[in-house]
This record gives sequence, structure tokens and C-alpha cells, in this order.
Amino acid sequence: MSDTRPDISVVVPAFNEYESLPELVERIDTAVQGMNRTCEVWIIDDGSTDSTFEVVEQLSQKYNFVHGISFARNFGKAAALAAGFDAASGEIVITMDADLQDDPAEIPALVAKIESGYDLVSGWKKDRKDSFIKNNTSKIFNFVTSKAVGLRLHDFNCGLKAYRRAVTQSVRLYGEMHRYIPAQAHRNGFRVTEIPVKHCARIHGETKYGSNRFVNGLLDLMTMLFLSSRGTSPLHMFGRIGVAFFVPGMLINLYFLLYWMTGHGLHIRPLLLLAEVFILMAVQFISLGLLAELVVAGRNPEREYLVRKQI
Ligand code: UDP
Ligand code: MG
Repeated sequence: MSDTRPDISVVVPAFNEYESLPELVERIDTAVQGMNRTCEVWIIDDGSTDSTFEVVEQLSQKYNFVHGISFARNFGKAAALAAGFDAASGEIVITMDADLQDDPAEIPALVAKIESGYDLVSGWKKDRKDSFIKNNTSKIFNFVTSKAVGLRLHDFNCGLKAYRRAVTQSVRLYGEMHRYIPAQAHRNGFRVTEIPVKHCARIHGETKYGSNRFVNGLLDLMTMLFLSSRGTSPLHMFGRIGVAFFVPGMLINLYFLLYWMTGHGLHIRPLLLLAEVFILMAVQFISLGLLAELVVAGRNPEREYLVRKQI
């Protein structure tokens, strides 16, 4: 590895993937050789319990462009990508899964698309080689996310993607948020697109995600939409809901006040109970909004702008 910055950084999260890594690195090497670009590979061992990191060490001795990071325990794919993004120094960053389901031969096409003026190019596993259930839940996931985010992608969660450095430096990655990198980038104003890529069935090892990926995915979508809606403060959002409860609650109360003042008995009646529930809900939502404002105000000042490119 020379001490100048490489053109391309390839980031590979790997959790118990020792069998696939040698072939993967060899294929990345072949793919990049035809491109006349300098390249580095960062393999992030996400707390594997097999010999993944030993294999990374051997590979780094064989190829001087291979680097590795080993996590103390399993932190998840998003954390592994975040560590790779922090370590990568290339202007263009490629991510790909370690399990050989993504084809390194797609790297030139991804890079070309970035260079035609995009900030993020997502792979689209058009002819997908996963189980029936996974393929179809994934279709629903992609449809819901497209609608919610306002960005039509067929495949948000493909491991194979290319990014301009500005994007990898600006995404928030924790938990399972890796599914929403294109969504976050789009909402941040970056230019996002997709190209069809080849997908292969898993040969070695097994999938790391079970059926709760779907529930987690939907919950994360809510978080992502909420956190990336800069411009609206929390009180604006929660306060609005609060006011929507407060106004009808107060009107009903006012009605009963007049009713009582004109000499009628009040008694407990459903409508009166409903009005009090509305008022309670309003107090809840408005206090929640204020609390959220406190959290935001106490947070370290964050960058309020994102730069796409600097020359
Ligand atoms: N992965 C990881 N940490 C985890 C789970 C997965 O680094 O906790 C890696 C895994 O090694 C693989 C990629 O993320 O390189 C995608 O995982 P997997 O192939 O299991 O997902 P699938 O293809 O079944 O959606
Ligand atoms: Mg896989």
C-alpha cells in the first residue's frame, strides 16, 4: 500500500465468512486490475467466532492493499460498515457482502455510474438468488420504503453499492440502519440511483438474518424518517398532534360549561369522558414534544449542512 490515498476503497463487513474471503479478495483484485485505479480493501470482522480474522491477516500479507479491523464482539452490519467508512480513504467507496453473493466484477460499472454524476449508486439484485419468502418480503419492504422516502429503488438493501466519500461521511449508522443508507442520502439531498447487478446464491456459511428483520426494518424506517426530517423540530411534530387533540377537547368542554351554566345537570356521559381523554392526550403530546426539544437542544451542535464535492 502506498501512502497516497487510493482512488477506490472497498468495504466488506464479514461475520463468520472465513470460507468466502480468499476468493472474494482475488476477484476484487482481478476486477480492479482492469480499471487502472488504485484500490484498498477493508474487511471488517464483526466479532466472528470462526477464523475470519486469521484469514484476513493472511490475506493482508499476500495482498498489500488488504486491511482488516476486528471487532471485540458482534456489533452488526451497520456498525461494521461505519467502521469501514471511517477507515476508508478513497474518494469512491464500494461496499459489498463477504459471502460472494455480490459479484466484484460489477465494481467498474458502479464506479462509472458514480463518475457520470451520482453520489450513491445502489445495486439492484434484479434476478435474485434467495428464498421465496425473503424475495417477497423484500419486495414489500422496498415498495413501502420507496413510498415513504419518495425515492423509487427496487432494492434498498443490496450489499453492493458505490458512494462518493461525502455520503459515507454523512450517514448515521447504528443498529440495523444500513438498510436506509440510500434513503438517508436521498433525504440529505444527494443524487441516488441504482443499476442492475448480478446476484449469486450463498455457497459457504449461512444467512445472518432471521425473520425479525422485517419488524426491525419497519421500526427503523420510522426512526429514519423522523430523524432525517430536519427543518421540522420535534415540538412542531408532537405539538401538532397535541393541538389536534386539545382543540376538540376544549370545544366539547366549552359546550358542557354552557350547558351547565344554563341550569342543566352534567352527569358522567361518554362525550364528556372523551373530551377529558383528548385533553390528557394533548398534554402528553405537547410535553413529549418539549422533552424532545430539550434532548435536541442538549445535543452537541451538529453540522447543519452537507457538502457534495470540494475541488
Ligand atoms: N454481517 C455482519 N454482521 C452481522 C450480520 C451480517 O457483518 O451481524 C455481514 C455478513 O457477513 C455478510 C453481510 O453482512 O457479509 C450480509 O449478511 P448475510 O449474507 O447474512 O445477509 P443476507 O444476504 O442473507 O441478506
Ligand atoms: Mg448474503
